[in-house]
Amino acid sequence: MAAVERTAGDSLYLAEAKVYPREVQGRFARLRTLSVWVLLGIFYLLPWLQWDDRQAVLFDLPARKFFILGLVFWPQDFIFLTWLLIIAALALFFFTAIGGRLWCGYACPQTVWTETFLWMERLAEGDRAARVKLDKAPWSARKLGRKSLKQFLWVTFALWTGFTFVGFFTPIHTLAGEVLSFSLGPWETFWILFYGFATYGNAGYLREQVCKYMCPYARFQSAMFDRDTLVITYDEKRGEPRGARRRGTDPRAQGKGDCIDCTLCVQVCPTGIDIRKGLQIECIACAACIDVCDDVMDKMGSPRGLIRYTTQHALEHKPTKVLRPRTLIYGLILAALTAGFVVAVALRCWKRAAVHR
Ligand code: SF4
Ligand code: SF4
Repeated sequence: MAAVERTAGDSLYLAEAKVYPREVQGRFARLRTLSVWVLLGIFYLLPWLQWDDRQAVLFDLPARKFFILGLVFWPQDFIFLTWLLIIAALALFFFTAIGGRLWCGYACPQTVWTETFLWMERLAEGDRAARVKLDKAPWSARKLGRKSLKQFLWVTFALWTGFTFVGFFTPIHTLAGEVLSFSLGPWETFWILFYGFATYGNAGYLREQVCKYMCPYARFQSAMFDRDTLVITYDEKRGEPRGARRRGTDPRAQGKGDCIDCTLCVQVCPTGIDIRKGLQIECIACAACIDVCDDVMDKMGSPRGLIRYTTQHALEHKPTKVLRPRTLIYGLILAALTAGFVVAVALRCWKRAAVHR
């Protein structure tokens, strides 16, 4: 193998090219938007919910009491948290074996907050072309205004996120009063700023780099995949050889495949990859490329699904099995652990109620 020659000026680190994801419309984009509203709605509204005369969900660390709706947990109940984490890990294994990276595409906090920060970026700086143009343009009053508006939106939202996070540990009404009267304690100030800064950095700047370089799930997910796992794939047999053609014409008559090489699937990709190069570790299965390619196929008069959710077996015209040893084992353990958890929590509540009678 030829050695790579380096000169003294070479850096061992390659600067990441900034990704400008294009906005996409479609059924999976709507699903992702719904997921963002539901998950962020739960996060931001939950601490404001009251249960009798107290906050419904409150982790009161100084009092060592954890309130979750009508239940109260103590440090000796830590086993339930461990149990819950094991259930969450197994659920991730189970759903990944069946549905691939559905978690990454629709529910991961990194995806959800990045999507929100992107909405604010679009609001302040415009669509993909406008954002690229703005970044290339020299500094002017207009550029300063747009960038300042974006920063204002990002910082406000990040601080609100930090405030909400701390509101799960300090009664949020008290916390709001302290913020309004500028009498926040040092630890509350630290955690609001720390969590706000983490949100700002991860969702505003790092974005896809968190998925590509920092997330361990991307590394070990391949161990849970098999040829029956749902993945997002470009149908190479149907798409190649790619090339431009006129709308409504038959690509086969021109010796071409269905892909018109418009590159829209690359432009919408939040991690900046080309799905046509095959399954890649960077793909977070957001399905944006499916939506945009379906739209292109509609316009060209070709059937949808050149990029689609499918399995390796389906691509090879073999049947896909949902029930297989790995999903059965994960599923059975998950069901047993969940049932055991529900029974254990119910018994514990019943015992506490009996003691207080
Ligand atoms: S969006 Fe579809 S047609 Fe356009 S380049 Fe991608 S795969 Fe080809
Ligand atoms: S390749 Fe498609 S599904 Fe994967 S991250 Fe990019 S746009 Fe999302």
